Amino acid sequence: MNFCSHCGNRVRFDTPEFDNRPRYLCDQCGTIHYQNPRVITGTLPVAPDGRILLCRRAIEPRHGYWTLPAGFMENGETTVEGALRETVEESRVTGLNPQLLSMVSLPDFDQVHVFYRVDMPDFSFETTPESSEVVLFDAHDIPWEDIAFLTVKATLEHYLEHLDAEQVPVLNSVVYRPKKPGY
Ligand SMILES: [Zn+2]
Repeated sequence: MNFCSHCGNRVRFDTPEFDNRPRYLCDQCGTIHYQNPRVITGTLPVAPDGRILLCRRAIEPRHGYWTLPAGFMENGETTVEGALRETVEESRVTGLNPQLLSMVSLPDFDQVHVFYRVDMPDFSFETTPESSEVVLFDAHDIPWEDIAFLTVKATLEHYLEHLDAEQVPVLNSVVYRPKKPGY
């Protein structure tokens, strides 16, 4: 950040009084431009026969790789509302009975990823501008080598490990920047 988004003055990067880390400061209007992690929220949609819905990404990053429907939370919505909205946007599925499944911090990327297990009301779904393919996968057919993000892989693994549990526990985890591309 070079200029204040409120008044246009040049900002400086310095630690404010009573703070413990540097921020972008505007000396003209006094605004402190805090930068905080962003929340990505999504779902693991389960069809009536137990198959899991995955979307092949039609957009960057990780174009062509498979993901659970998810995206950036918007202002004014809850994590559940965001997850259900993203699921509609990426697969046209209206998820039911959302159950918190995973919450993963990505401190290297300044993000938090949250996933809910949702029931699909039926077997209907569609491709969308964001998803070139939408497919229901049996557990043994999941394309593990082509999963777009480590948080999606961790969430899928966690769900499948607890398939027999009456209530799937919440995965509370951390993912750090990997050596290979993709995360
Ligand atoms: Zn300013």
